[in-house]
Amino acid sequence: MTILVTGGAGYIGSHCVRQLIEAGQKVCVIDNLYRGHREAVPAEASFFQIDLLETERLTEVMKSQRIEKVIHFAALAYVGESVTEPLPYYMNNTAGTVSLLRAMRNSRVSQIVFSSSCATYGIPDQIPVTEESPQSPINPYGWSKLFIEQILNDCSHSYPNFGFIGLRYFNVAGCSHDGALGEDHDPETHLIPNCLRTALGQQSHMTVLGNDYPTDDGTCIRDYVHVEDICSAHLLALNALNPQSSRYYNIGLGQGFSVLDVVKTSERVTGHEIPVEFKPRRPGDPPVLSASNKRISEELGWSPKYTSLEEIIQTAWDWFRTHPEGYRTETAS
Ligand code: UDP
Repeated sequence: MTILVTGGAGYIGSHCVRQLIEAGQKVCVIDNLYRGHREAVPAEASFFQIDLLETERLTEVMKSQRIEKVIHFAALAYVGESVTEPLPYYMNNTAGTVSLLRAMRNSRVSQIVFSSSCATYGIPDQIPVTEESPQSPINPYGWSKLFIEQILNDCSHSYPNFGFIGLRYFNVAGCSHDGALGEDHDPETHLIPNCLRTALGQQSHMTVLGNDYPTDDGTCIRDYVHVEDICSAHLLALNALNPQSSRYYNIGLGQGFSVLDVVKTSERVTGHEIPVEFKPRRPGDPPVLSASNKRISEELGWSPKYTSLEEIIQTAWDWFRTHPEGYRTETAS
């Protein structure tokens, strides 16, 4: 059986493709390479440069590659950008997923693991957030993912063989344990990469986006979970998929760290000072997010390997200091 991985050239997708291959799966990757890296896709996987909106081409690939299940990562994923440019988010994420689901129906593929997000919860009314918490996004990125959740619910209601598992990620961080795969975004908007780039001297300081939040130090609190632990949850979900299994799971560690905690931990890990400058809040950022992972631990047996922020940042640092130009570092050398 072959697994189709959409967005397999992206940060989380590429780490997952690698785990699937190591687990002995046949993998087919599709990616439009808008923000992904062809170099990040292992040679063992077949690769097609296709956009999610190309329903016909997707259908052909699903038929010719004998796809049995889909893991769907491909998406735009910057909260701030989604506020300034909402339409590409609804087009790529929401309409793109409808196109993918249509191609799946055309080719009789009926099982999908979907990357959802804690952004669907908006500003949660309780911490840690359980899967039952009300979903009321505060940015277009979160809405684009919540609309997909509704579409998946409708499909599973109406199509008897259809099965999905939706994984609501909290803040994905870190790089592969052996430094082979990393995080390479352009533009880079994420907190940990920006701390590490400051430690490398690539920028003079870290910008802290808001220090007037209702938290102890005034900065936002997030739940950072290692990318390889996110991937192991996908492998568990893939095995659990069936038309009766359709449901959502949070993936996070249940511990929250403020932006300033992350800066200080990055200073300890890297041994470099990371100067900060305070700027106003970024629109669309909830003050505090951390996950209850009780459901995925109990039902799928998920057990994260990385449980300290320090260890997570260490794996990212191993990649950033050896790949100062991201994947281009290897091409250049
Ligand atoms: N953040 C920050 N400076 C940066 C990048 C991010 O202060 O250069 C903050 C951001 O406002 C949020 C947290 O760090 O509160 C995590 O942001 P990130 O973009 O890493 O992930 P997100 O929570 O948007 O998925």
